[in-house]
Amino acid sequence: MFVYELTKTLLLPAMSLWESHTVTIVFSAIVATGGARWALRRQDRLHRQVVEHVAARERLEARGAALIESASRYRRLVEFSPEATFLHRDGRVLYANAACARLLGATDASALLGRAVADFLHPDGRVAAAELTRSITEADMRPSGEWNEYPVIDVSGVRRAMEAASVIVEWDGAASVQTLLRDMTARRDAERALRASEQRLRLALDAVRMVVWERDLTNNAVTFHTASAVPAPATSAVVTAVRDDATRGFSESVHPDDCDRLRDASAEACETAGTFDVAYRVLGENGEVSWRHTSGRVFPEAAGRPARMIGVDHDVTESKRQEEAIRERETRLHLIMQQLPAVLWTTDPELRFLSCTGTGLSRIGLVGDDLVGARLQDLQRSDDEMEPAVAAHERALQGQSASYEGPWGGAIFAAHVEPLRDADGRVVGTVGLAMDVTERKQMEAQLAHQAFHDTLTGLANRALFRDRVEHALMRAVTAREGHRECLAILFLDLDDFKGVNDTLGHAAGDELLTVVAERLLKATRGFDTVARLGGDEFAVLLEGMHHAADADRVVERVQLMLAAPVTIAGREARMRASLGVAHATGAESADELIRNADVAMYEAKAAGKGGHAVFAPDMHEALVARRALEADLQAAVDALVMADTGWPHEPSVAPAGGFRLMYQPIVDLQTGAVISFEALMRWEHPTRGAVPPSVFIPVAEETGLIVALGRWALRAACHQLRAWDRETDGSELSVGVNVSGRQLGEARLVDDVAAALAECELTADRLTLEVTETAVMHDTERAVTTLHALKALGVHIAVDDFGTGYSSLSYLQQFPVDVLKIDKAFVDGVARGGADAALARTIIALGQTRGLRTVAEGVEHEEQRAALATLGCTLAQGYLFARPRDAAAAFAAARAPSQLATLTTI
Ligand code: C2E
Ligand code: CA
Ligand code: CA
Repeated sequence: MFVYELTKTLLLPAMSLWESHTVTIVFSAIVATGGARWALRRQDRLHRQVVEHVAARERLEARGAALIESASRYRRLVEFSPEATFLHRDGRVLYANAACARLLGATDASALLGRAVADFLHPDGRVAAAELTRSITEADMRPSGEWNEYPVIDVSGVRRAMEAASVIVEWDGAASVQTLLRDMTARRDAERALRASEQRLRLALDAVRMVVWERDLTNNAVTFHTASAVPAPATSAVVTAVRDDATRGFSESVHPDDCDRLRDASAEACETAGTFDVAYRVLGENGEVSWRHTSGRVFPEAAGRPARMIGVDHDVTESKRQEEAIRERETRLHLIMQQLPAVLWTTDPELRFLSCTGTGLSRIGLVGDDLVGARLQDLQRSDDEMEPAVAAHERALQGQSASYEGPWGGAIFAAHVEPLRDADGRVVGTVGLAMDVTERKQMEAQLAHQAFHDTLTGLANRALFRDRVEHALMRAVTAREGHRECLAILFLDLDDFKGVNDTLGHAAGDELLTVVAERLLKATRGFDTVARLGGDEFAVLLEGMHHAADADRVVERVQLMLAAPVTIAGREARMRASLGVAHATGAESADELIRNADVAMYEAKAAGKGGHAVFAPDMHEALVARRALEADLQAAVDALVMADTGWPHEPSVAPAGGFRLMYQPIVDLQTGAVISFEALMRWEHPTRGAVPPSVFIPVAEETGLIVALGRWALRAACHQLRAWDRETDGSELSVGVNVSGRQLGEARLVDDVAAALAECELTADRLTLEVTETAVMHDTERAVTTLHALKALGVHIAVDDFGTGYSSLSYLQQFPVDVLKIDKAFVDGVARGGADAALARTIIALGQTRGLRTVAEGVEHEEQRAALATLGCTLAQGYLFARPRDAAAAFAAARAPSQLATLTTI
């Protein structure tokens, strides 16, 4: 029993501590007979002694009687036994062997003979030792043969712990007690030391909250060696964890998901006599989950069958939680890396890649492992990829962070490289992060392009063009020293582009502009800058020319290319452009040079469309004057519109804005009677005096001011007619009013005419609207519609300046025309004969066949009048009859036809 207890106490600490000691670990089991049967676990000296001792004792018991018969034989047997043995009867020593003498400190065994056994027993143990000292005859009981501990006093009086076991033997024919004696002092000391060490171990295990468990595989009993720190559910969990307990089911405290894993690991360890190592979850009473980890090892018995499993189990909740947190962080990082078009890498001090990850890699067709192990410098990349990367990494190796943006494998990366430091702060490599910024870069490039280019045509815009001109001028200045190069700007404005936009729509307009851009690029050299400055304005910067005249050839080429027919919105059309050229003299700024080309273009346009002009300094002055006139005209028209009173304007009253109408009579060529007046506008400029219509009317048309002016003229003429009506005796005059092409394009023209007639209570046939054929040609469809609407009102339509436009005759059918006004150019030649006379004749004949009245304009001479009359022209107008005069004078002339001749002489 004692040994058993000892075993139990020592077993586990023995695992780690006893390996170096010569101490025997003995397992015991009590057998039914009450005797001790010793199972031996380990071989060593003491163990062997025990075995021998047991064997000796068994032998003694079995053969006791025979031995006693011969004391000498017994003596021989026992004398040299290493086991201390003595015989006693009635408390007196009969015999002691040498080992016994040595144990009790006697020099010789004989010194012990006859001595009372009680003398050797310490008083503390006397009672307990009664068995040893009692007389056999007194008590019927026989010694048990069990080992008991006694406090012994040796010969020298020293107290020593010993154990003794006694049996009855016969000695000299009488029953004696044979006692085997063993010193326990050393063992007791060792035991104490062990206990202390075990205590320390326990404390240590408790401190680390570690449970040492032992599972006996023969009966599945589980023993804990440090249970104090283990909470109850964990204990039962540990039992579950270490026991392959298929029959009894798992403890409820183990997480259901972990049961199978535990069972399998444990079973496998048993099968293979190996180890098992498993983490599992434990459910607390309130369902809280904690993690434990258990690991054990199966120890086979001598026969090799698994006997025990010993291991440790401890709480790993905290480390699991940390692990989880780390894993979570890693997962998050991984996710981030997956989502971001980024690449993350580290290198050693030689710039050898240690790691490289990130989805940004796939963009350039790589995976991280492709780079790991390779040196950055050894990668086969172009210089513009390599240089910024190597420079940044080298800076990082010097302890500085570095950023750069650059191409890599077809993408553009924004990279940041930092020194990688160890715990002591030494640089041991680099760590880099790069983001794929290809899209952003492309967007930026696109935005930059948009900022400097025209979206429709892709040509340079005004800002870029100006910049290019500026640089070209700077280069020209520096180059002038050596060989001379010429620089010029071509300014181009499409003629009648507005017409295309109005007639065919803006999409067609855009299409046309695109074609112009293409043709301009073709007509110029690759290094010339072609720009669209806005609307239908284009410009070309011509550089590096040897002669100024080279620009002329470009102009010719451009005009030739533009002249080729173009199909827009399914219709074939022809483009014309007015071109201005300005040569750099070295004195002007970029802005001035561009403006000069613009001025030249303006001049070209004024001279007739489709032409070109080269800038001359006086052009600019003309343009400045024109701009001033525009501003003055605008102010005058504003004043006119504001002062919507005083119809009709009396000659004595200065009309608003300085505008007045003059009236020129139209006479019957046969009778000489005035049958109508043409209203002609006059403008009295506040400082410059009378401005001729040939000057201000084109400006008014171009600026759109003609619409307001024309509306006023129409109304003023109607009012004048009405005023005249009051003075006449029923004879009805009519009035002709000029209508500009711009007015024809205005939807409200028809309403304006109707309103003016209604306001003055005039019938529509009293009014003739004079429109030039070029005005009609501009936007034919719309003009035809408007003219028909006007005609429907009942007004008469006269085609002014007839014969000066193109294809007039063929178009004539489309228009609801009443009167043809033959241009002065033909009238001039009518008396001379020739081509002009022929054309005048044709027109008159055409009028006659179509039932139209014909008015000859600008008749100045009698011969002309006569010739026209002969040709069958019905009406005439001209200085021969009367100059345009104010309303009163014109009317007076009409009342007295006799005065006409007088008038013409003025
Ligand atoms: P137009 O409509 O052809 O007008 C006839 C022009 O010929 C007038 O010039 C008139 O003064 C001039 N004229 C008449 N008889 C003779 C002659 O025997 N010899 C010469 N050399 N010239 C003669 P004016 O008044 O200077 O007007 C010029 C142009 O201005 C007009 O040409 C017309 O196109 C335009 N205009 C005048 N008033 C208006 C107006 O109220 N509205 C619009 N839209 N245009 C107007
Ligand atoms: Ca006219
Ligand atoms: Ca005319």
